Amino acid sequence: SISLAFLGGIASAARQGIVVKGRNHLEDLAKADTFIFDKTGTLTEGVFRVKDVRAFHMTREELLGIAAHVESYSNHPIAQSLLLEYRRQVDKRRVCRMREMPGYGVTAIFDGERVFVGNKKLMDWQGILCTEVEQSGTVLYVAIGEHYAGYIVIEDSIKEDTKDTFGYLREKCNAVLVMLTGDTQSGSIPVARELEMDYAYVNLMPEDKLELVEDFLSIQDCSERLVCVGDGINDAPILARADVGIAMGAMGSEAAIEAADVILLEDDLRRIVDAIKIAKETLKVVE
Ligand code: ADP
Ligand code: MG
Repeated sequence: SISLAFLGGIASAARQGIVVKGRNHLEDLAKADTFIFDKTGTLTEGVFRVKDVRAFHMTREELLGIAAHVESYSNHPIAQSLLLEYRRQVDKRRVCRMREMPGYGVTAIFDGERVFVGNKKLMDWQGILCTEVEQSGTVLYVAIGEHYAGYIVIEDSIKEDTKDTFGYLREKCNAVLVMLTGDTQSGSIPVARELEMDYAYVNLMPEDKLELVEDFLSIQDCSERLVCVGDGINDAPILARADVGIAMGAMGSEAAIEAADVILLEDDLRRIVDAIKIAKETLKVVE
């Protein structure tokens, strides 16, 4: 049976918008010392601004329009951001056979032509010739048919609450802080530097994320606990595998929320600090 102390802990977490799915998660949180974060939508806002657009055979607005249409069925933060920046209504009747390729991008038929929007890996995989764009930010390459049509450079910003949270985790949990991302070096290294991550791994496919989490788990002491924090479909496996998986609830995908042990109803990382404080206090009462 669950003790009153744990029920109290779970209840006070709930009052702060933190859903804890069981008492053992509070015990694990109190011992957490390794924190693995997804970048996009977790450490960063997940709201990308368009920094630069280059279109080769059309106007920039047209290229942005094609990309927005092709992305219109995706829930990815990149897709949501493009739709926001496009500002105009998309006509979904012009788009069909949309397919998402996690870690690569999306494809759909737009006005009868196959369009690809995604990273350089996607272009290479489709055999589309394009030169790598050297700019800070995340570069989305657009191809129509077999032809490279242009690129869109987008940039995300670090969440305000990230630094406060990291200060506490370093000081009070003596934490190792790790960033995992499917984004490229140019989109990720500036974020990792600014946050002074202990480790940062970029260009990861969902299965690579899981492998890295396994590596971190394998070097753990039995008194230590590993926490993973994420928001995307591609984070679900690591949230399930971690000692404690924490999902961003407000903007997070259903798969991440399902797989997690703890859900933050607001996407505010400081709630992690609150959850750990509650966990530590609860354990003090029990012991
Ligand atoms: P993260 O691990 O940082 O949350 P993802 O694994 O979701 O990132 O995405 C990795 C990369 O795959 C993105 O940086 C982007 O280049 C590409 N990508 C994924 N989804 C999309 C999309 N809907 N549109 C364009 N590119 C995408
Ligand atoms: Mg993410």
